[in-house]
Amino acid sequence: MLIGIDDTDSPQGMCTTYLGAVLVRRLIREHMRVREARLVRLNPNVTFKTRGNAAIMLDVEGDPDRAFAIACALVEELADFTCENTNPGVVVADRQPDPAFYEKAVKDFCEIDDAVRILDQAGARYRGWKNRRGLIGATAAVSSELADKTSEILVYREPHRFGTPRSVDRASLFAAEETTFPHTWDTVDRVNNVVVCVPHTPDPVLFGIRGESPQWVMAARQMIRSEPPGIEQIWVTNQGTDAHLTDGDIGSLREGLSYRVHGIVENEPETGTGGHTSFTIQDGDRAVRCMAYEPTKNFRQIVRQLRPGDTVIACGSYKKGSINLEKMNVVAPGKSVTMRPPVCTACSKRMTSDGKGKGWKCKKCGARSGVPDVEEIIRTLKPGWYEVPPTARRHLAKPLCRGLPE
Ligand code: ATP
Repeated sequence: MLIGIDDTDSPQGMCTTYLGAVLVRRLIREHMRVREARLVRLNPNVTFKTRGNAAIMLDVEGDPDRAFAIACALVEELADFTCENTNPGVVVADRQPDPAFYEKAVKDFCEIDDAVRILDQAGARYRGWKNRRGLIGATAAVSSELADKTSEILVYREPHRFGTPRSVDRASLFAAEETTFPHTWDTVDRVNNVVVCVPHTPDPVLFGIRGESPQWVMAARQMIRSEPPGIEQIWVTNQGTDAHLTDGDIGSLREGLSYRVHGIVENEPETGTGGHTSFTIQDGDRAVRCMAYEPTKNFRQIVRQLRPGDTVIACGSYKKGSINLEKMNVVAPGKSVTMRPPVCTACSKRMTSDGKGKGWKCKKCGARSGVPDVEEIIRTLKPGWYEVPPTARRHLAKPLCRGLPE
């Protein structure tokens, strides 16, 4: 059977993955076998999400009615029902529902009624609490088919420490990254000297290590020193796979979806108040703004080197008229030139402007010219992919250390 759960947490605490990890242990206690624990991230632009729009799926051998009862009881025990935005959903399906529902949930927006219809078609047991929105994520989780997958070990805190400051040895995190990168990633951000894998929210997670396989995340995890941990769970995930991206065309992008878009840089990038850098790309007579926000730190230094005429592929979510860049391919830097007044052939002095549109004139001998000196600027920006640093990376974004996008 496939068990799906979503929407059990609130900004004040809990985490659906923690509930899933506790459920794994309760099912094992009931002599059930858990074949896989899966963590899927869904459309990152869904406004109802608490943090990272996660949902979980457990692939279990055992009695489905018993498992459904245990899962529902655990949701009632642990979910934060006081929060208006917490609307849990639990699904137990004997077979996988249509994976198209997962595809839609990770790339687009879904309705509760669509989830319920799919569950009825699949003959699944399900229960939704309050407005039942969690059924969307729970249904997406059980219908998920992952073309690409990664691992994450989530180390949870002992319950009596929930909400207190976390203690994880910083040097051991940097050492783990040093030893296991690129097979693990985003434990720390070495360029910006920031720890990435330890949350600051009051949820049960102590830290999480992301990587290519259970073996690699475990290797990194074993190097980390911290307060005494509670339970730990290795999850199969769609994190770091770009599952949210769709190929898009400028002019037909939809609000809240995430795209890969080809275009030609139209203007010099500008940095506004707050340090956010923006530029526009065009395709024919259609254009869209691209944003590299301040938290993307050093990535903005790459963006600022773009010049009109550069061909790029911009990847990121389309929100309020802008693509919020996650990564970018500089396909072909265009030719960039500067124009200066010509040098007088008689006096070897640089001429000066003779008025707008009137060309140039030598101050010494009065010679005139209508042709400026054109100089090509040597570009420092090399073709290739560039990405935001680990501290600004979204859960679903595929890091370049996993291989370049096609
Ligand atoms: P949690 O740990 O509780 O899962 P979260 O940050 O992952 O926290 P949720 O609390 O699950 O966020 O809130 C996301 C809500 O949005 C859930 O009810 C989920 O069912 C719903 N949802 C997820 N993806 C979509 C989608 N593509 N379209 C519509 N609703 C969605």
